[in-house]
Amino acid sequence: MPMYDFACRECGQVFEKKLRMSQSSDPQTCPGCGSGDTRRHMSSAFAVGGGSGPTRTISAPPPSSPFT
Ligand SMILES: [Zn+2]
Repeated sequence: MPMYDFACRECGQVFEKKLRMSQSSDPQTCPGCGSGDTRRHMSSAFAVGGGSGPTRTISAPPPSSPFT
């Protein structure tokens, strides 16, 4: 079952839920403030780049020019 990340618009809390695909679009309640005004993030299980934000974590430096 995939994990989904949610973020609360009220208090900003981010939480994860394991949901079925069919449940993934259901509104989730924030565990912090109880608000139902949450939005779903991309699941961390499917984080294969191309997400939102500059999440480029490359450990090895690219073989660029030797003149640095
Ligand atoms: Zn909240």
